[in-house]
Amino acid sequence: MAYLTLKDINKIYPNGFHAVHDFNLEIEKGEFIVFVGPSGCGKSTTLRMIAGLEDISKGDFLIDGKRANEMGPRERQIAMVFQSYALYPQMSVYDNLAYGLTLQGVDEDVIEEKVKRTAKILGLTDYLDRLPRALSGGQRQRVAVGRAIIRKVGIFLMDEPLSNLDAKQRVTMRSEITQIHRETGATTIYVTHDQTEAMTMADRIVVMKDGYVQQIGTPYELYFNPVNVFVAGFIGEPPMNFVRTKIQNNCVRIFGEEYSLAGLNRPELSKYEGRDVVFGFRPEAIILGTQQSAISLKATVELTEMLGDNTNVYITAGDEKAILKVEPHDTPEMDSEITFSIPYESIYLFDAETEKVIR
Ligand code: ATP
Repeated sequence: MAYLTLKDINKIYPNGFHAVHDFNLEIEKGEFIVFVGPSGCGKSTTLRMIAGLEDISKGDFLIDGKRANEMGPRERQIAMVFQSYALYPQMSVYDNLAYGLTLQGVDEDVIEEKVKRTAKILGLTDYLDRLPRALSGGQRQRVAVGRAIIRKVGIFLMDEPLSNLDAKQRVTMRSEITQIHRETGATTIYVTHDQTEAMTMADRIVVMKDGYVQQIGTPYELYFNPVNVFVAGFIGEPPMNFVRTKIQNNCVRIFGEEYSLAGLNRPELSKYEGRDVVFGFRPEAIILGTQQSAISLKATVELTEMLGDNTNVYITAGDEKAILKVEPHDTPEMDSEITFSIPYESIYLFDAETEKVIR
């Protein structure tokens, strides 16, 4: 286990492209950190700088308080699992797991004990004699994870390790990786573009966009206290609904009606009189019907999607569209008119210009 410090880390590629700007983060021993963001936001570049596979253009990277910028990948005591997990096709699962240790000249009986223990953690005990081609995608991915965890390392890096698996396998592997993390205790950094993976696995999440860190926090903090429109829209599924509007006489116009914000406790709001704002609410934060301490709106149901545990309701009102999440038994009729309420505490307001949250 190691603790890591990233201080003002920047990456400028030789062609001049500035891929990562002033990345700052302290990672505690044993923490599970997830870097999440859309394609091209710089998460893999940051991970590769931590791994020692990419030079750090500016800033300091420390392992256990010691500067590690110039350390080679081996010296950093890091294991890594990538999206494409090339196993040796002609070698059995046992040999695939043992290979790294064999190269290091570790004793056969130590290797055997380690391979067996790793296989047990990963549920691969019955497959040790098989060749990779005789395994499912999920089993192959487990071998790849096994090859990384068999060496005792302080830091474990994973770059989209589940993206080649189908949806069901991804869900299974998600909890397996969390379990392995608990057992090995290695400080882990996991890269994904999937907010569900980030939310379900992370101790803390780093949300990135265009090479800049947007917010760092626990899944709970990011969901309930997003700092800007991007984080609010990225975390949560279906995403938060946004309506652009203006504050006039402490009222907003949404879905064709005026609503007073007098009941809302946002000290910064007084500065926004006459200015454009973005009004946000989560699909699952609404209550059907009217409600105290809430804004109640009317809309037409355009489409419903029954998902079993809930129903997504696509609504329109004037020019606006939004998605609501309701209990399956409350699924409204298509084309019907519904009333729903957004409790004051579930309303988000953002500065329309800077996109920062108004607190
Ligand atoms: P993805 O999920 O698609 O892998 P990512 O967030 O991991 O995306 P990176 O791979 O870190 O993104 O890339 C960040 C940016 O840096 C991208 O715009 C990419 O095109 C650019 N980039 C990556 N490698 C190089 C390189 N060798 N030279 C120049 N630009 C690069």
